Amino acid sequence: MANNADERQALISDLQSWIRQNRTLGVEWYLDEGDRPESMPMMTGTPATAAVVTPAPSAAAPMVAKDSAPSTPAVPVTPGNDKEAAFTAMCGRFVADTMALIDRQPAVAPVVEPLLAAHGGDAAAAMAALRAEVLPCTACELSAGRTPTVLGAGNPEADVVFIGEAPGRDEDRQGEPFVGASGQLLTKILSAIDLARDDTFIWNILKCRPPNNRDPLPGEVQQCEPHLKRQLAILRPRVICCLGRVAAQTLLKTDLSLGKLRRTVHFYDGVPVMATFHPAALLRNPSWKRDTWDDVRKLRALRDALRAREV
Ligand code: URA
Repeated sequence: MANNADERQALISDLQSWIRQNRTLGVEWYLDEGDRPESMPMMTGTPATAAVVTPAPSAAAPMVAKDSAPSTPAVPVTPGNDKEAAFTAMCGRFVADTMALIDRQPAVAPVVEPLLAAHGGDAAAAMAALRAEVLPCTACELSAGRTPTVLGAGNPEADVVFIGEAPGRDEDRQGEPFVGASGQLLTKILSAIDLARDDTFIWNILKCRPPNNRDPLPGEVQQCEPHLKRQLAILRPRVICCLGRVAAQTLLKTDLSLGKLRRTVHFYDGVPVMATFHPAALLRNPSWKRDTWDDVRKLRALRDALRAREV
């Protein structure tokens, strides 16, 4: 009995310590919204500098610094986080393999976006001009039911783009993508990998709200895709992350399941594309947050590796 009581007390202490550590890192959101039974350190290593997480004897052990990225928070070390070490190693391999894959891609002729050229390479000005062009779009029937077109929001110099499906009711009212409940969750997911919304650009496959939030129709996607291609040509991101099955299947023109699409990197006009769950799906299935977390850590690691290579 005494042993059971001791074990219970040790478990409680571990849990308290883990919660404290995650609060310190500002990644406690999943405590309220879903399961995340492990510590969630950042993974920002380049292939050559994949982080090494050292198992520690107790939950109250000190934070262990990891790779050399200056903004990288310390890693909370808890007992039994060998899964975390395995993930970190896997993440390093993922980045190395993906970089090799990127290097093997056939060169894509750079698209000279006329608006970018007209604005002397100023992405913000070109994006504003594109917004003005797309605002009155009536290329498909969705224009009849929308409030404004929702072109996207974020930093025109961003190197990561998140692509959702289409504006919902809140987005249609406010003219900005991901501002409703799923948008709030997206903001939390981003902050958990140390990104603010303004470090990214966020847009949707469709720029107008489909009635009752139904899936985009092929004709609508076809009409809207030129806007997306122009956005990409202006922004020239290092990596794209599709949010959800519909965004991923539509962008990549495939029927593969999200489960399969999440496993590897794909390419769209030469830009690496990853896929993860849609925040709305996470609101319905909080247990998927853990996988989403792993996906975005891989995304962040890949972004950092691509960035490090170019500086
Ligand atoms: N869902 C999306 O796919 N996009 C939004 O902008 C909002 C909700």
